[in-house]
Amino acid sequence: MAQKKPEKLIDEKDVRLDGRGLKELRPMKIEVGVLGNADGSAYIEQGKNKILAAVYGPKEAHPKHLAIPDRALLRCRYHMAPFSVEERKSPAPSRREVELSKVIREALEPAVFVEYYPRTSIDTFVEVLQADGGTRCAAITVASLALADAGIPMRGLVAACAAGKVEGRLVLDLDDIEDKEGEADLPLAWMSHSNAITLLQMDGSLTLDEFGQAVNMAVEGCKQIHGLQKETLKAKYVAVKEEVEE
Ligand code: ADP
Repeated sequence: MAQKKPEKLIDEKDVRLDGRGLKELRPMKIEVGVLGNADGSAYIEQGKNKILAAVYGPKEAHPKHLAIPDRALLRCRYHMAPFSVEERKSPAPSRREVELSKVIREALEPAVFVEYYPRTSIDTFVEVLQADGGTRCAAITVASLALADAGIPMRGLVAACAAGKVEGRLVLDLDDIEDKEGEADLPLAWMSHSNAITLLQMDGSLTLDEFGQAVNMAVEGCKQIHGLQKETLKAKYVAVKEEVEE
């Protein structure tokens, strides 16, 4: 977003512009099962980011020639709404959205037991309603929950967040202005259960030592997000169980 760069992004007490500490995530709110017509869905707010994810499948793959004989075809579409950024964005898919769709799919695929559903497709749609930096990560976090909500067997949940460097300091979960004005941004996705990293990208430059610290910081952030993902899923199933029992 076209924000004017303030003089300082981090003050002398290590407080960031939005009041966070260096290793603090943005406030998060997650919900699952928010849409009636999809097989699975979830919604996330992470700071000013607002993102919806919906899943259809597993269902017979169309067009048929794309069907894979021994596993499901996992597809993903990341899309930013025209009103998601300060200046209206064209609703047509940009190169960035095509690339992010692939990156998000590849971050999620290791978690999904695609081999359970040969010749089918599992389609994940991500709609960014409001963007403020780190949307690929929030998209992975919320899409992973939508897959779980669709009842698709998974090895673990995937959580994602970035670490980076702003005004010479390592920080967690960069927002848009920190991403644009900072020296480095390192988005990372982490899969629970197998403790695997399923996405690692980097913009900018870090020393080898800083790189190691940033990876650890992002993994710690992902573990916190994973805690919230688990709580949200559990709360939904407790609510469903209570409804059934009534
Ligand atoms: P991510 O959202 O994963 O950090 P980028 O680094 O490409 O992905 O984008 C950073 C931020 O830049 C986005 O979250 C969004 O706030 C902003 N942005 C992306 N595309 C546009 C666009 N077309 N117009 C205005 N702002 C954009």
